[in-house]
Amino acid sequence: MSRVILPGSTIGVLGSGQLGRMLAIAARRMGYYVHVLSPTEDTPAGEVADAEIKADYEDLEAIRAFAKGVHVVTFEFENVSTEAADAAAEIVPVRPSGSALYVTQQRAREKAFLTLHGFPTTPCAAVHSLDELAVALGQIGTPAVLKTAAFGYDGKGQHRLASIEDAERVWRLIGHQEAVVERVVDFSHELSVIAARGLDGEFAHFGAIENTHRNHILDLSASPARVDQHVEAEAVQITHAIMDELSYIGVLCVEFFLTADGRLLVNEVAPRPHNSGHFTFDACVTSQFEQQLRAVCGLPLGATTQMRPAAMVNLLGDLWVDGEPDWVSALAIPDVKLHLYGKRTPRVGRKMGHITALAESVDIAIEKAVAARDLLV
Ligand code: AMP
Repeated sequence: MSRVILPGSTIGVLGSGQLGRMLAIAARRMGYYVHVLSPTEDTPAGEVADAEIKADYEDLEAIRAFAKGVHVVTFEFENVSTEAADAAAEIVPVRPSGSALYVTQQRAREKAFLTLHGFPTTPCAAVHSLDELAVALGQIGTPAVLKTAAFGYDGKGQHRLASIEDAERVWRLIGHQEAVVERVVDFSHELSVIAARGLDGEFAHFGAIENTHRNHILDLSASPARVDQHVEAEAVQITHAIMDELSYIGVLCVEFFLTADGRLLVNEVAPRPHNSGHFTFDACVTSQFEQQLRAVCGLPLGATTQMRPAAMVNLLGDLWVDGEPDWVSALAIPDVKLHLYGKRTPRVGRKMGHITALAESVDIAIEKAVAARDLLV
């Protein structure tokens, strides 16, 4: 039987946020059907999918029933248990595999994997108690940041420690669960690499992307990153090696710190398309979402050529505080593309959409994207 899942087949997606929505848009454009499963209804992905199933990720019978209605299962959300991935895998291919998900969904496991295989990462330690935290701080030094090992994203479950005296206060905030403590990195840039690996190990990447965070949430991404070519080459090579080590099938993102003294350190690995790659929808021959579709369906990977320099800014719910943003003014800037995720309730810090601007240089693309967002309020 061919391992290729052809147009006309149905893709099953666990998770139904904006990443699933953009995957569904890419998939439907290529003639696939899309079913999504998540514990909520009226979701960003559900709005554009052919079927939206409401079930808990831990409801293995519901996962099996879902898998029976699709030809392949993939993820847009990594906090799905290996049991759920395994239940789906009894019925259809699951790509990426439950084991790749297992490593990358929990910070302590991910750091252990990276260290074991010699990938450069931030000085860090897994801690389970205040005593262990104090010992770890003595070893790695301060300032440091304590992060919950599981279910952390967009800076949720993260607290800085200026000195060892902060240990008790910070442990009280997130303690009673496994955590990772890391030395705060003095970085010149935050970079990410988004890449795809196909069924036979075929590899394609979108180069290095330059990222700026605000309050731990991604604010702006620009591509190509304004860093030396050898830095980009090394970041891509590390990403490739991580994917090979995981026998990965699908799209994955590696986030890096480039230290002030020029070293690349892996911050984290996301087993799915990533917010920093949203510009690919408008700027590249193949978007990260089409690439995810191609990889998990066993199709040849698409060209990742970037047609023009691009910058993306996130649109958070904060922009709605004084009413509906002024879309018309922002869209009056040529080469600005608006993406909204169909979320009905704006909340401070909630990702509602993004703007991508294309230009003749990265600097101008950044200026345009920021100017467009400023015009919204
Ligand atoms: P994370 O959820 O781990 O990706 O963290 C979100 C953001 O917090 C990162 O992109 C950085 O801007 C910041 N951050 C996290 N860990 C560190 C660290 N060890 N040193 C410096 N900044 C960090």
